[in-house]
Amino acid sequence: MSKRFEGKVVIVTGSSQGIGRATAVLFAREGAKVTITGRDEASLEESKKAVLAVTNSENNVNVVVSDITTSSGVDQLVNSTIDKFGKIDVLINNAGAAFTDENGKVGVEVGLESYQKTFDINVKSVIDLIQKCRSHLIASKGEVVNVSSIAGGPHANTNFAYYCMSKSALDSMTRCFAIDLINHGVRVNSVSPGIVATHFLNAMGIPDEGVKKCYKYYTEHRDIIPSGAPGKPEEIAQVIGFLADRNMSSYIVGQSIIADGGTSLIMGMNTHDLGDVCK
Ligand code: NDP
Repeated sequence: MSKRFEGKVVIVTGSSQGIGRATAVLFAREGAKVTITGRDEASLEESKKAVLAVTNSENNVNVVVSDITTSSGVDQLVNSTIDKFGKIDVLINNAGAAFTDENGKVGVEVGLESYQKTFDINVKSVIDLIQKCRSHLIASKGEVVNVSSIAGGPHANTNFAYYCMSKSALDSMTRCFAIDLINHGVRVNSVSPGIVATHFLNAMGIPDEGVKKCYKYYTEHRDIIPSGAPGKPEEIAQVIGFLADRNMSSYIVGQSIIADGGTSLIMGMNTHDLGDVCK
């Protein structure tokens, strides 16, 4: 039986770590040729090893060290994929980040540099990539999957306002671009994860010990994660694979699938026992 992404060419941004690495491995295992990318060469090397463990061929993996907040970084990513594989079938816009304020500010006072950095990686780079891949995706009648977050939903998080705003913008982009590109046979969809155990908190400057404490706390509080534990990168990769697989999800256009163990269904009000309060 042929593998479901046999012969497909897939770019996975942010694949030097976490969700992106698990996604690149999933596509490679299912027969795709993958471009993996990020800024950190050593982490990318780890991802390459993980991909080679399931494909066994250097011909099926393209490694690009680049910063996709720069126009030249995006050019490098797209051009090297075309040079090595000759086409693009699937674009996974997974790279993303949140930033703490350099001057220790919180809430409304968080500086505009932080806003700019957040939007550069979570929004601008995605626009740039979709624009530069557009003709290739139209030629292949391809797929785009954006990785958003439940942070883009209706709830407020005062300390990470720009992150939440950037993911709301990404959700809107998914819908708008989907309706444009479906005219050309290209689908755009997205996945919105909740808490997933990755390098994400480390990238914000939190040391390993703090990250462990954080995940332990989440695990102990079912009002934070009803399913009882942070998600694994592989669980999000499966949703990405589903949305990139036209045989499985052909009629889904411009939607975001939430994968969060139930987190976004909990409202603060309902975590208090109002029965007791009213006694
Ligand atoms: P990680 O920090 O583990 O991975 C983020 C990836 O993005 C890394 O490979 C990093 O590569 C890459 N990246 C960041 N900035 C740049 C840049 N300027 N240029 C190129 N690559 C960059 O986090 P996750 O795997 O958790 O994050 C993946 C996506 O999932 C993000 O969009 C995030 O917002 C989203 N998400 C994550 C959640 C979580 O709880 N983990 C929850 C909800 C959504 P490098 O450092 O090598 O540049």
